[in-house]
Amino acid sequence: MFALALFSACKEDKKEVLEEEVVEVEKPKDIYEFGFNLNEYVVKRDTVKSGESFGQILEQNKIGYPKIFHIAEKTKETYNIARFFQAGKPYTILCSKDSLELPESFIYQPTKEEYVVINFKDSIHAFKGKKPIKYVEKTVTGVIDNSISVTLDEKGVSAVLTNLLADNIYAWTIDFRRLQKGDRFKVIYTDKYIDDSIYTGVHDVKAAYFEHNTEPFYAFQFETDSVKGVIDYFNEEAKNLRRAFLKAPVKFSRISSRYNLRRRIAVYGYKIRAHRGTDFAAPIGTEIMATANGTVTKSERRGGNGNYVKIRHNATYETQYLHMKRRKVKVGEFVKQGDVIGWVGMTGNTGGPHVCYRFWVNGRQVDPFKQKLPEAKPISDSLKAKYLDFIKPIKIQLDAIPFDEVEKTIPEDTITNNTNLITHNY
Ligand SMILES: [Zn+2]
Repeated sequence: MFALALFSACKEDKKEVLEEEVVEVEKPKDIYEFGFNLNEYVVKRDTVKSGESFGQILEQNKIGYPKIFHIAEKTKETYNIARFFQAGKPYTILCSKDSLELPESFIYQPTKEEYVVINFKDSIHAFKGKKPIKYVEKTVTGVIDNSISVTLDEKGVSAVLTNLLADNIYAWTIDFRRLQKGDRFKVIYTDKYIDDSIYTGVHDVKAAYFEHNTEPFYAFQFETDSVKGVIDYFNEEAKNLRRAFLKAPVKFSRISSRYNLRRRIAVYGYKIRAHRGTDFAAPIGTEIMATANGTVTKSERRGGNGNYVKIRHNATYETQYLHMKRRKVKVGEFVKQGDVIGWVGMTGNTGGPHVCYRFWVNGRQVDPFKQKLPEAKPISDSLKAKYLDFIKPIKIQLDAIPFDEVEKTIPEDTITNNTNLITHNY
């Protein structure tokens, strides 16, 4: 075979030369970017270096200072490039395709999507443009073995999706630090691309289904106010997934002691000492957040409470946060849900760093985990019918997505013996 190939190579020498000539003549494919056919130019791409100015770059590219000044002046109205020029941003110079390679256009990209073209070949003018953006709808399913981030990572899905699910969509209904092995999910989401090819990450979640402890949780994205562009998530019965209260006042914590009216502990000689709070153990200095909007009614250091803050949310609800290292808010201050009000410490009666979170309903301390907490903002009656119509086809689509068969049949020996299902990271 090899010998034959050699012979035929010799024989076809002449023909090969001919083929090479054909390749040379072939016109390169047109490549359009920023509204230019790049094949008509010598394209120089770079990023702005630290301390580098627009003028310096043009000067290095054979443009003299009087002209640079003229360019800057004439295009200032459209885009003040000197003012917005920033190190690290990409730029492109289109030069004439001749021996002189003179710059004809300068393109600056202040963001991944936007660009500014400054033309100075014949007349000097500038214009702004936006790269075409494409959203691609995708679906992903998964079964939790360890944590959702691990499951999504194995499927090559961006961590942004984990954050959208854990911190945004399901933040009030599912505690992602306490997922169970076997919990599973399906998500319909959109990926965002610029110029058809540059992947910029997960854009948003259209709908999701999460099965936690065999209980189903649907979430559908819906625009409740098209004027203000308010987007929220609701379940299959049009109930808002957000709650007026966060599930915990600290991120990345673990519950070290629950609300328990019949607790016996060593410190008190094993006598019953009711614990009317929920203790969240977290390292000293961890930020403590207000679990809902409200006004600070107490901020002081006193006895067993140590440094503590109490917030009144409305006529019904109050919350209290004990043993802080330091308080950040004053009495009378209005705080929003998620605002930092202090830091975890060990002040007052406490054996270790934690925040004791207390929840009051009509002046009585209760277990917040046993409460049916109010919805953040219920959907209006007039919108409800529209919403239910809107989600109908999406729910059919979501329900039809099969769970990956492979995931259901994990071989016995690959299942680890880890019975502690609590993971502190998502
Ligand atoms: Zn406590």
